[in-house]
Amino acid sequence: MGRLYKNIDYCAGIILTRQDIYQEVKYGLLGALVCIILIGFFLVRKNLKELKKKKNMFTHAEESKSVILITLDGNGSITYCNKYALEKLGYSKEELLQKNLFEIILIEDQLKVYTLIMCEKHQKNIDSFDIKFKTKNFKKLYALCTIKFGSTLGGLDGIEISAIDLAEYDFNEMDPEKLNSLYEELAITEEEVQRKYEELLDKQEELKKSEERYSLVIDTASMGIWDWDLVTNKVFYSDKCKQILEVVEAEIGNWRDYIIDEDKLRVDEAIEENIKGNVLRYEVECRIRIKEQQCKWVYIVGKVVKDYENKPIRMTGSILDINQKKETDEQIRKIAFFDSLTNLPNKNYLDKEFEVLTKQYNEFTLLIMDTNNLKTINDCFGHHYGDLLLTEVATRLKNLLKPNMILIRISGDEFGVLICGSKSKSEILKTIEHIEHAFDEPFEINHISFVVSFSIGISIYPDNSKNFDELLIGADTAMYKAKEKGRRTHIFFDNHFKETIIEKVWVENNLRIAIKQNEFILFYQPQMDIKTGKIKGFEALIRWRNKEGVIIPPFKFIGVAEESGLIIPIGEWVIKEACTFINKLSEAGHLDLYVAVNVSVIQLAQEGFVEMLEKIITENKINPNTLHIEITETILMESIESNIQKMDQIKKMGVLISLDDFGKGYSSLTYLKQLPISVLKIEKAFVDDINESKNKNITGAIISLGHELGLKVVAEGVENKKQMDYLQTYNCDMIQGYLISRPVPGQEALRLITKHNNGIL
Ligand code: C2E
Ligand code: CA
Repeated sequence: MGRLYKNIDYCAGIILTRQDIYQEVKYGLLGALVCIILIGFFLVRKNLKELKKKKNMFTHAEESKSVILITLDGNGSITYCNKYALEKLGYSKEELLQKNLFEIILIEDQLKVYTLIMCEKHQKNIDSFDIKFKTKNFKKLYALCTIKFGSTLGGLDGIEISAIDLAEYDFNEMDPEKLNSLYEELAITEEEVQRKYEELLDKQEELKKSEERYSLVIDTASMGIWDWDLVTNKVFYSDKCKQILEVVEAEIGNWRDYIIDEDKLRVDEAIEENIKGNVLRYEVECRIRIKEQQCKWVYIVGKVVKDYENKPIRMTGSILDINQKKETDEQIRKIAFFDSLTNLPNKNYLDKEFEVLTKQYNEFTLLIMDTNNLKTINDCFGHHYGDLLLTEVATRLKNLLKPNMILIRISGDEFGVLICGSKSKSEILKTIEHIEHAFDEPFEINHISFVVSFSIGISIYPDNSKNFDELLIGADTAMYKAKEKGRRTHIFFDNHFKETIIEKVWVENNLRIAIKQNEFILFYQPQMDIKTGKIKGFEALIRWRNKEGVIIPPFKFIGVAEESGLIIPIGEWVIKEACTFINKLSEAGHLDLYVAVNVSVIQLAQEGFVEMLEKIITENKINPNTLHIEITETILMESIESNIQKMDQIKKMGVLISLDDFGKGYSSLTYLKQLPISVLKIEKAFVDDINESKNKNITGAIISLGHELGLKVVAEGVENKKQMDYLQTYNCDMIQGYLISRPVPGQEALRLITKHNNGIL
């Protein structure tokens, strides 16, 4: 055995003298056997170690069936052992990892091992040595060992002891023949080991390249890479990682410690799911503290790695700075859910919030409040004043809010208040009263006082609606009803309103069909010169005759057409049709009679309206003077600035403009003077009131005003002689109404001319 050791020692030193081997064949062969084993072992192990160091790619040491591998820390405590070591020494992993090297070697060898370790440590040239291990069953295990410092096996830098069990090789028993064949076999093995070694070198080269590529990815990636050893609690961080965490190497700890308390539980739950195997990896967005009072959003993706006993031993993953993205998201959210002028949440916000709130409350009341007169303020004083006023209104409303209320800006001059929780009608009325009372006091903007009042629509969930959309529509419908009633009014949604809504939807759907199938007709109502009694022109009034032959009056569909934008194609048709009628009048010799068409402000506001009008006039070759347009006063005044410009263009074209329903709105004289109009049409309500003596003077005053402004005055809705006489007394120019004729189809209108104008052209 002594010689064997001698040869082994040489082999381990890789100074192999074949001469010695052939001289003493038996011992030589035995020596060669051990040498080759050791060469193979050392070569493979050397490379394994290097490869392991670079990413633990090989599990050879772990799986080895011939080499016992044990690593120790500086105190000799065992920090790692492979399966073969456990098998040979008879311990479980937990048991062996709790032991010190000296507990598993025989006392007689302990001093030798200690000295050898010390020598190796001090770089003395000590090669392999024999040792007797003590197994769990107190059996001796003769082994041949080598020592290496700085091993990374088991993830910890330490002392590595590699040993082979000499009992596995029963050299003495072998006869020379057997040894010969073994030698041949070993010769082949040696070649194989050499080939494997070369393969390993190639692989190492490949690995190096791939590692270079890998580190390039790590260096240039926008995400940081980390690798957390759960056994040692050490974490590797890529440079980018440190940048994201905003720490330098010295301060760096565990990334989990950076997560703010509010988010920690969420992250831990995500990790737990991965540990349980419910998810392949975990992904979480969380905030990390970067400085005192400051935190940033990061996106962490990680994967738990387990050992063969299914115990988590490491976690690897990435971290991405998503703070900018979160800020952008927040900005987008702000734009999407908040109004930039008042900073109040908007309808979309309330829509989302409502869903959440329904988990907490069973009942809600929605108030939609339309700010009266704001449009006029915008027009008269400019948008700057309008905006300032809106901001002030929002602030005043905000101050009235109770904790169970949410205030939103719905659109231009509409606000909404959602009251959460059950409220009786009287409680709701009290809230409204409170709001109205708070707005008694005028707003002072640049020394100008503005009084603001609301028309309020109220709808209740679930009494009036099944969801948020219905609640909103309900309150909106009620608000419009309140507006019709006047200023500073409120109306509760009535379930009858639903019929109105359903009707609206029906009308809109059927209007589209009506346009395609040309179901409209124009009726004409004469306008008579009060002095001569002659018809001067007609007002064209639209009718919808549906496929069942039922005639639907305009009040049933014009509003819906305006809301849905369908008034644009309808209005265009009306102008074309009126022009066709003008040509019919001309053909009948009535060259100076005009036709007045009603034009909605929505049509007027449409881009290219003037051009469209001009085109129709040209195409129909009519005299522009024979076409009049009627625009309703109230709606016109809401966006007067841009309208005046268009009206000027229309007037220049030669088309006369009438201001319809005059007296209903509150046009200021200043504006009236600026308007390029030729005719004032007195609102029917004033003509109705002529019967009641107290209002006589108002109608008379309106006629005088019109004349003072150089306008012709038409009174509409004249139904009786009394009204006509009155109007005559006050020098009204023209009258229109059932007294002369109801609106009639074109053919009949032609007959009316013959009747009233005595056939005189
Ligand atoms: P408007 O322009 O004020 O038209 C006058 C309305 O009063 C007409 O109702 C007419 O039939 C009615 N009327 C005329 N004389 C009398 C009378 O002596 N007594 C009573 N009780 N009513 C009288 P109509 O035709 O139902 O039109 C209603 C409204 O529909 C019109 O009011 C107008 O604003 C709108 N409209 C009608 N045709 C069109 C159209 O082609 N385009 C647009 N944009 N609106 C139209
Ligand atoms: Ca009219």
